[in-house]
Amino acid sequence: MSRVLIIAQHGDGSLNPATAKTLFGAKGLRVDDIDVAVFAEDAGEVAAQAAKLDGVTRVIKLEHPDFAHPTAARLAPEIAALAGNYSHVLGPSTTFGRDLMPRAAALIGVGQVSDVQEVLDSHTFKRPIYAGNAIVTVKAPADRPVIATIRAASFSAAGEGESACEIISREPTAEDPGHTRFIDLETGGGEGPDLQTADRVVSGGRAVGSSEGFETIYSFAKKLGAAVGASRAAVDAGYVPNELQVGQTGKIIAPELYFAIGISGAIQHLTGIKDAGTIVAINKDAEAPIFEIADYGLVGDLFEILPELEKLI
Ligand SMILES: Cc1cc2nc3c(=O)[nH]c(=O)nc-3n(C[C@H](O)[C@H](O)[C@H](O)COP(=O)(O)OP(=O)(O)OC[C@H]3O[C@@H](n4cnc5c(N)ncnc54)[C@H](O)[C@@H]3O)c2cc1C
Repeated sequence: MSRVLIIAQHGDGSLNPATAKTLFGAKGLRVDDIDVAVFAEDAGEVAAQAAKLDGVTRVIKLEHPDFAHPTAARLAPEIAALAGNYSHVLGPSTTFGRDLMPRAAALIGVGQVSDVQEVLDSHTFKRPIYAGNAIVTVKAPADRPVIATIRAASFSAAGEGESACEIISREPTAEDPGHTRFIDLETGGGEGPDLQTADRVVSGGRAVGSSEGFETIYSFAKKLGAAVGASRAAVDAGYVPNELQVGQTGKIIAPELYFAIGISGAIQHLTGIKDAGTIVAINKDAEAPIFEIADYGLVGDLFEILPELEKLI
């Protein structure tokens, strides 16, 4: 029988929207039974949020002090222990899921299907390769559980259902492998929404010129309630930390509104934003490739345009 388990991503007591997008992707499998597992020290709040999502059969709470700051090494054996009851185990293809799910797949003894962007049937999926320049159809073996990450940028979020489903508690059973432990969490992205799931993102490129220059980007983003992103050139130059990088080797995002500021539009950057809704580009070179995909283009100096734009918001 087909049963799906989704591993919830959450933080600060809130369910990350990537979970609802994974659920939307899971609905393409056309199975009636979809469980969501919430690993946390105190999972109550997040489990209640997950239980309201449309299409969830039950939420499984797994609570343990270790899960206050769970590492992928600690969670993967727990997922492997749960997986026996399921035909599919899915996580979002965010940094969280990309870290965790391959470890779980390895422990279960299957290859992971990564970055699913379309579900064709229970074992056949489409996923991007070559930085999104080609789409490959992959078929997972039918005699083993499917472990997959769902490309959050390719699915909308499942909404709330009419009533909340049941929430059950289960004792974690796996042993701590003991070789990896949480020490500290440092985030360099500043305040504001999570880049990977934000509805609005303002990204700066090499042209921003310095960390101080990025203050203009942060200020504009704050006014818009947007997350801040960056091109690899801006990250490599040390203007911003690398968790802000958008693109092939950074984060793949799908905001409703994307600002590319002083970014030329290299293919590796565009890979990260190809599912964005409206793209606005500011660049002083009217021939910059970013204008080929932008819905709105402003040709000019970002340091003149951005403060003007900010005043108008
Ligand atoms: C394997 C591989 C993986 C990669 N992965 C990524 C990735 O994940 N993400 C990514 O972004 N890149 C990635 N890159 C790098 C990518 O190829 C580009 O080099 C990079 O995206 C360029 O960044 P940029 O647009 O900020 O800089 P540039 O290409 O230098 O563009 C700067 C732009 O700013 C404009 N400009 C200059 N001054 C101003 C001003 N005052 N006002 C307005 N506009 C101005 C210029 O006209 C220019 O178009 C990857 C490359 C490789 C080979």
